[in-house]
Amino acid sequence: MMTRKEKTRRYQELLNVTAAGRRPHPSMIVALPLPEGVKVSFEFFPPTTEKAEASLWSCIERLSPVRPSFVSVTYGAGGTTRERTHETVVKIARKTNLEAAAHLTCVGSHRQEIDAIAKRYWQAGIRHIVALRGDAPEGAGSYQANPDGYAYASDLVSGLKKVADFEISVAAYPESHPESKSPEADLNNLKRKVDAGATRAITQYFFEPETYLRFLERARAAGIHVPIVPGILPVTNIAQVKKFSKLSGTTVPDWLTELFDGLDNDPETRKLIAASVAAEQCRILHASGVNDFHFYTLNRADLTYAICHILGVRKQLI
Ligand SMILES: Cc1cc2nc3c(=O)[nH]c(=O)nc-3n(C[C@H](O)[C@H](O)[C@H](O)COP(=O)(O)OP(=O)(O)OC[C@H]3O[C@@H](n4cnc5c(N)ncnc54)[C@H](O)[C@@H]3O)c2cc1C
Repeated sequence: MMTRKEKTRRYQELLNVTAAGRRPHPSMIVALPLPEGVKVSFEFFPPTTEKAEASLWSCIERLSPVRPSFVSVTYGAGGTTRERTHETVVKIARKTNLEAAAHLTCVGSHRQEIDAIAKRYWQAGIRHIVALRGDAPEGAGSYQANPDGYAYASDLVSGLKKVADFEISVAAYPESHPESKSPEADLNNLKRKVDAGATRAITQYFFEPETYLRFLERARAAGIHVPIVPGILPVTNIAQVKKFSKLSGTTVPDWLTELFDGLDNDPETRKLIAASVAAEQCRILHASGVNDFHFYTLNRADLTYAICHILGVRKQLI
């Protein structure tokens, strides 16, 4: 039996991971020892129909036994899912043994409204908020802060901390937020959010492990010491991801596009590729010292479950 130290050394040898984060040869991945000590969290979105609700719950049922650190529920653009997010978060907290976190954005609400939403969460036993600025609703142009609202996520974090002692996670951007003036300005913003009381950052999705590793190094050098958890998006629909990535400022590498060439009408193969790419990404990150992963599940369990299994995160007795 290899010790943990030996395993880590073996990883490093096999992957040839250098300080500069050189990309290893992918064929090595399957030969690696099973990762240990990996923690995962899952993101869901609130369902809009009965069918979507049923599918979310079957997803939760399938993923719960791997014991995620927490699960979170998104808040629709422009605050459009306020009630549905609330209902879903509270239902998860009541019906399962999972820690449920609520996403909350600044968009379209007065401070008093947001504070009231936060109080309601606290009263319902929800202790973890993912605090975000949000974006302008589609077609409404660029983001404009509500004069009576919280302007940026850092203001929201300060406001939430005044309402109650929430655990607060915030967003981070390995390739910088698309509206930021510079990567430095974006890191300063992340630091403001942490200084205001956030204790975890979850990143926008990315595809090259080096992108995240370099960002992590820069964040540490800038004095940001909270966990910065990589957000992992298993990609099955490359066209959709490219469209969204244009808006979010995420680079979609050519190798990813090529992997999906000719598979438009073959969803099964696309799923297998999605799991394999995301698992490889996670294993490279793990070999570089990353133990925490946040999955954008898109309310589908199969890919995330398979990736967790490859990461050594297995079903536990509840
Ligand atoms: C993990 C994760 C989860 C998400 N969940 C949701 C969700 O549930 N619902 C949703 O609608 N969106 C969600 N988003 C998207 C997010 O709302 C958008 O990316 C939004 O554009 C920025 O949100 P933020 O919290 O990062 O904003 P902020 O941290 O406020 O930053 C936004 C921009 O403003 C700049 N900035 C900050 N402060 C100042 C200042 N004082 N002066 C000038 N510029 C400033 C920053 O550099 C950045 O460019 C999520 C994103 C991530 C990564």
